Amino acid sequence: MRIWIVYSAELKVKIAVLSPHRDDAAFSLGLSIGVWLEAGHEVEVVNCFTRTTYAPHADFESIHSNDRLTRVTALRHREDLTWQKMYGGRKPGLHDLNLKDAPLRLHVRTDQVCALPIDPNDKALVKVPKAVAALGADALVIPLALGSHVDHLTVRAAILATDLPSDMPMALYEDLPYAARPEATQSLEREASLIEGNLRSLFVTTSVQVEAAEQRKRRLALCYDSQIADDVATQIATFCHRYEGRERIWGNAAWCASELVVGHEVP
Ligand SMILES: [Zn+2]
Repeated sequence: MRIWIVYSAELKVKIAVLSPHRDDAAFSLGLSIGVWLEAGHEVEVVNCFTRTTYAPHADFESIHSNDRLTRVTALRHREDLTWQKMYGGRKPGLHDLNLKDAPLRLHVRTDQVCALPIDPNDKALVKVPKAVAALGADALVIPLALGSHVDHLTVRAAILATDLPSDMPMALYEDLPYAARPEATQSLEREASLIEGNLRSLFVTTSVQVEAAEQRKRRLALCYDSQIADDVATQIATFCHRYEGRERIWGNAAWCASELVVGHEVP
């Protein structure tokens, strides 16, 4: 049986959401970001590895390789702006760190990015926490790095290695579309349990209309159609069924004790 503990969001909080690439916050937290904004919180999305040539579903074949970086990076910026507009009057802020993504930074093929260790000398390990500190956020949401994409792992490691105040609310999100893959679905809880801090699973809202949530998630995901085909948008959207139309995050003790908790699940 599940018991829902409900709190009201009286204090307004500045939440920084770390998005390794431009689409990660949208794919994994598109609904939650809407809930936070509606509750009056400020949401600042920190896009880390924004310089890229990766756009498998956009037609860049005829573009000279010298122009590809500029053109793809600009296209993905436009996709992000389209996503931002989906929130109407209360928009999430966008902060771009202009770091190169794994293929450009680590000189690897795109099919190798989920099988690489973090480079201990990666400048991102310094730049990401610095950028987050400059934002002055009250709470952080970072990727769980399901799927082991090295850019996601690097962002997670950069924040977890930071000496955050013990009362700083922090939560980890389940990276989509990776979390929807059968091998990841079976190990979600185990992955979260490997992170220090006794994380608890949480939802940012207590009840939603599942069909409407799925449709909304699909529309949000398709803002990034240079990155995903229709079937992947469907996987991202339907993943919320297992959580009754919501997105699950994993919060530390400070998050669980904060005003950000609308409801948490008690086994
Ligand atoms: Zn990503």
